[in-house]
Amino acid sequence: MSPYYLSTMEKLKIAIQKSGRLYDDSVKLLKDCGIDLKNGVNKLKAECDNFPMEIYFLRDDDIPQYVEDAVADIGIVGENVLYEKNKKAVIVEQLGFGKCRLSVAVGRNESYEGVEYLRGKRIATSYPVLVQQYLDKHGVPAEIQEISGSVEIAPGIGLADVIVDLVSSGSTLFMNGLKEVETVLRSQAVLVRNEQLGAEQQRLLEKFLFRIRAVKKARNNKYVLLNAPNDKLSEIVGMLPGMKSPTVLPLAEAGWSSVHSVISENDFWDIIEKLKGAGAQGILVVPIEKMII
Ligand code: ATP
Ligand code: ZN
Repeated sequence: MSPYYLSTMEKLKIAIQKSGRLYDDSVKLLKDCGIDLKNGVNKLKAECDNFPMEIYFLRDDDIPQYVEDAVADIGIVGENVLYEKNKKAVIVEQLGFGKCRLSVAVGRNESYEGVEYLRGKRIATSYPVLVQQYLDKHGVPAEIQEISGSVEIAPGIGLADVIVDLVSSGSTLFMNGLKEVETVLRSQAVLVRNEQLGAEQQRLLEKFLFRIRAVKKARNNKYVLLNAPNDKLSEIVGMLPGMKSPTVLPLAEAGWSSVHSVISENDFWDIIEKLKGAGAQGILVVPIEKMII
């Protein structure tokens, strides 16, 4: 049973993908934000005990429409789908997962020299709106064949000369004898909201966003502990950013200190190598669960 206050309170309704590439990361984000989903995944809807939120599981293609219509207050969807559907939903936050690009690919042996190549070609894609915009932008007319899945096989079966499809590693293109030649759009999962949220929904969204930002920051940072000889201390501390500045504590062994700091994932290996080079020892690196600045 939900606590009484939760069952009577207004809830923030969120739409996430029912199954597919965004599902795991979307659920993980909710969990890392301390939101426990109650129902199984095969249902259309899940409730939570510890946050006034209702979760709808939908096909990703339908999420922008549901958010525009306020059936859901917010949603998690790829930018690719959001822009293709062109619905009224406002991006609130980039979520850092579901990263991919919408790319133009042609036969591996084609000599491709630029967008002009596309003139008059047959292009197979599931993203006709984005492809048309791209062609218009470059002033290159072409024929778009909309297909809903397995776009990469279209050239092989004579349905198209060119494809525009989502790519992450490029291995699917390679296996189908294609090469990537242009990027139409870089995409990642984003949190979107309805244009006009009610005051309570807005308040809940801000609460949720505060948690999302803490989780994102934590994912991008590591907590580092190390031992430094005191004669190298200022050099080592100078290499470390820390939240304000690194913490320095004396070790029981004379002449040594323990240094604690937070390092961004991006600079991680660079800094660790420099620290070792400067005489740091016993370096421990610990994941951070939440980070609030
Ligand atoms: P649904 O059944 O919900 O319609 P789908 O088959 O359209 O699912 P998925 O393949 O699960 O969609 O992809 C969902 C989203 O994941 C894409 O729209 C895109 O934003 C993102 N994504 C990330 N990497 C890739 C990739 N390599 N290929 C396809 N999509 C990717
Ligand atoms: Zn889809």
